[in-house]
Amino acid sequence: MSIPAILNQTAPLPVLFVGHGSPMNALPGNPYYQHWHSLGAEFGVTRPRPQLVLCISAHWLTRGWWLTAMAKPKTIHDFGGFPQELFDQQYPAPGWPEAARALSALLRQPDSGLPVQLDAQEWGLDHGAWGVLKPMFPAADIPVLQLSMDDSRPAAEHFGLGQQLKALRSLGVLIVASGNMVHNLRTMQPDAADDQAHDWARDFDQRIAGYLQTGNMQALQDFQQLATARLAHPSHDHMLPLLYAAGATEPGEAPQFFNTGFQAASISMRSVIWG
Ligand code: ZN
Repeated sequence: MSIPAILNQTAPLPVLFVGHGSPMNALPGNPYYQHWHSLGAEFGVTRPRPQLVLCISAHWLTRGWWLTAMAKPKTIHDFGGFPQELFDQQYPAPGWPEAARALSALLRQPDSGLPVQLDAQEWGLDHGAWGVLKPMFPAADIPVLQLSMDDSRPAAEHFGLGQQLKALRSLGVLIVASGNMVHNLRTMQPDAADDQAHDWARDFDQRIAGYLQTGNMQALQDFQQLATARLAHPSHDHMLPLLYAAGATEPGEAPQFFNTGFQAASISMRSVIWG
């Protein structure tokens, strides 16, 4: 079935980049959880209610690009050393195999031009996805698909696939990219307050925020050229989701920032909503 037979035309939905930080943020009682919860409550009230959430998480890295296509995606607890309460969390949002098939026919893998591949068995919802979506949409009644990232491929390809996602915004799809604008686990200072950060972390965070504010998408894609890039992202997994979100924006669409603090001085929680 084609997309229009499955997803109805809607007023354009916003695009989100959410800094997820520590897996513990998925439990109530912290300001990040509270903000995600308040933001989610706007959908269906002051913002259109999504028919589908498409999540690009830092925690699903593959060769080639894949889309979840199971009816009941499992909740994946892809972390260690946390309290049992976190492992007990479930997020039973349904998948939507028909929508996944229609999206796969529409979306091209940016390196090969082939359709995005369908995963009906392996993945599910990792903590980059459910850790944010459960606070936002606790009723778990909006279907969720996850799109993987091939992190062996250059930034421009991730941005390019993000551009392909733009059209989905008018089809009731809420794009939720989940990562962190600065993410270095080796330099964490666990006792740091959220207004404290390493100088290099603040530098990188502010430069990226500036590129988003000025719509300088080329500089965004060239983030590895920044002097602080290797410290800000020893690996790129948490930065890449931002390229999908930014790619799905319209020219001149202004970003609004929220949760602009840091965790442990080396994880930027800066989050962005466009639209
Ligand atoms: Zn993460």
